[in-house]
Amino acid sequence: MRRFFRPSIWVMGRLKYLQKFLLLAVFLGVPFAVLRNEFRTKTLEDIDFSTKELYGILYLEPTAQILRVTLHYLTLTPVANQLDDPTLLEERSTLDQQIGEALAAVDAVDAQYGAILQVTPHWADLRAEIEALRQTYPQMQTRQRNDTIDALTQRLLRFITRVGNTSNLILDPDIDTYYYMDTVVTQLPQMATYLNEINSTVIGALSGRGLRLQDTTLLVTYEEIIINQLASNQQGFEFAFEYNPALREDKGLLLTGHVGRVQSFLLTTSREILGRAPGFRAELDRSEDYGTAAGFYRAARNTIDAVFAFRSTVADGLYDLIDARVNGYYQRQFLVGSVLLLGVIPAIYFAIGFYLSVRGTIDDLNTATNRMVKGDNAVAFEPHTQDELAEVGLAFDKIGRELMAARDSALESARAKSSFLATMSHELRTPLNAILGFTGILMSGMVKGGAQLAPTQQELLQRIDTNGRRLRDVINDILDLAKIEAGRITVTVTEARPRQFLDETVSAMRSLALNKGIALELHFAVSAPEVVLTDMRKVSQMLTNLLGNAIKFTQKGGVYVEVRGGATPADWQIEVRDTGIGIPKDSIGRIFETFRQVDESDRREYEGTGLGLAIVRSLAEAMQGSVAVVSEVNHGSTFTITLPKRLDVKEV
Ligand code: ADP
Repeated sequence: MRRFFRPSIWVMGRLKYLQKFLLLAVFLGVPFAVLRNEFRTKTLEDIDFSTKELYGILYLEPTAQILRVTLHYLTLTPVANQLDDPTLLEERSTLDQQIGEALAAVDAVDAQYGAILQVTPHWADLRAEIEALRQTYPQMQTRQRNDTIDALTQRLLRFITRVGNTSNLILDPDIDTYYYMDTVVTQLPQMATYLNEINSTVIGALSGRGLRLQDTTLLVTYEEIIINQLASNQQGFEFAFEYNPALREDKGLLLTGHVGRVQSFLLTTSREILGRAPGFRAELDRSEDYGTAAGFYRAARNTIDAVFAFRSTVADGLYDLIDARVNGYYQRQFLVGSVLLLGVIPAIYFAIGFYLSVRGTIDDLNTATNRMVKGDNAVAFEPHTQDELAEVGLAFDKIGRELMAARDSALESARAKSSFLATMSHELRTPLNAILGFTGILMSGMVKGGAQLAPTQQELLQRIDTNGRRLRDVINDILDLAKIEAGRITVTVTEARPRQFLDETVSAMRSLALNKGIALELHFAVSAPEVVLTDMRKVSQMLTNLLGNAIKFTQKGGVYVEVRGGATPADWQIEVRDTGIGIPKDSIGRIFETFRQVDESDRREYEGTGLGLAIVRSLAEAMQGSVAVVSEVNHGSTFTITLPKRLDVKEV
């Protein structure tokens, strides 16, 4: 399990909390944003799609009116001319005027939606054709007229279908709206043209040429077609109602009225027109009678107008359905947007809260750490949260307290040790000084009434003296260190001349070098300060220690001391360089520790306690300075003390 999460743990372990959050936000947010965007795009597409359908419905309304008045006009014109009937002629000119109005109405919707529906050029062509026809039609021959009627009707129907195509109506995705659309765009305009065929055939016959065989055939065929169409259209409505039962309740639709009207027109036509013998010739009857051209024309016209009115009703219903669908899309978008917002805002709110709580615990921990570092363990760590981090904090607090207790007891025992050492050294030094004093007196032969000492006795006394002095040096070192460790070291700053002081210090060591036959030289560089403010006695003590070591660990060559200015103008340096045995790399780190020597074996060659360098370093630090060493085995070592030229007394 952990193995699987290793990369994740690796990454999370390296990120700050803020970065962790950002990473999570990116991983969660990006797919989230992509999904939301996808949804948005899809919904906008849907809205776009259906809005175009709405435009299509609006565009088709005046277009259907053009079809309606054009059909009437084309049918009526020849009859009115032939019969020279003033009412018919007047109606014809009204229709002509209505065509003009209908053209203007389509112009208006075309200006608004034509470009979106990409039908403007087609409309312009169609419009020009209708305009031209209004001029030429009245003068045409019958045959030419018939062709023109067919051609124009087809063109109008095609145009209506084209608007249906480009406005997506033909692609409507729902069952109810699909069948409504089919009625509005295809079925009813088609049916109107069939009814008009019947109309023009019948009134053609009634206005003089009589009902020929081909007319009868035509009429029977169209009746059949229209009856089938009515049935299939009714079936379409049935499907729509099944899908959307609320539509069946729509009292405004008047489907049965529509069907009944068309059926009764067809029946009457059958009975009144086809029921007569073939070769029937109508008299030129000008009454409103069904059997006259004018009468039949009106009956047919009313039926066709009713079909168009029904078409408009269905178109309204269709508009409402699609409009509701578009509103549904908007609502869906709003709903999803709100849900997302309601989800995201608390998520951000709690994430920030989480971060601040983590930050709070970390701040608490920092405060606790600082307090512990200062040695104050009086106040307990009190987490403000109850989570895992608080547990960590409490554990840390526990460890901290134990460490502080351990440190306190270690400090206490170190203090006890130092004070023991100081006391012991003092207690040892007093009798030792007495021993050395008396040994001196004995050696000098100044004992009253004392006998002359034999050479072997002299030699033994000499050994007592030498060992006693060495012991005193060791005790002095221990005492110094004890003082330093107990923090009882006092630095007395005075104005001093290094040249004079250091010259004396080096001179005091000269005999040691001479005894070993090696050189000991002191050199003052030009940069060496003339006067310094420091504790010169302690500087001298440090130099003595370094010189002692240098001479001790050098068999041939020499020891060279250089005094000079430091790396910054505020410092000065004393460098002690020897050509002795050098210090191995792996030991160089620990020679400044107390009681540490490079050779710690029992049979080591060089004497010493391992305290000298520890004292040098402690003194250097007590005087705001430092000591450094570079060394190479068999080539020698260089110790460099760096000290401030003006030691700030207050700091010590
Ligand atoms: P010690 O009393 O042993 O000299 P120090 O603290 O003065 O104690 O020195 C620690 C150890 O560092 C010495 O034992 C020695 O091994 C090494 N050391 C110090 N100075 C030198 C030097 N100049 N050359 C070589 N080794 C040195």
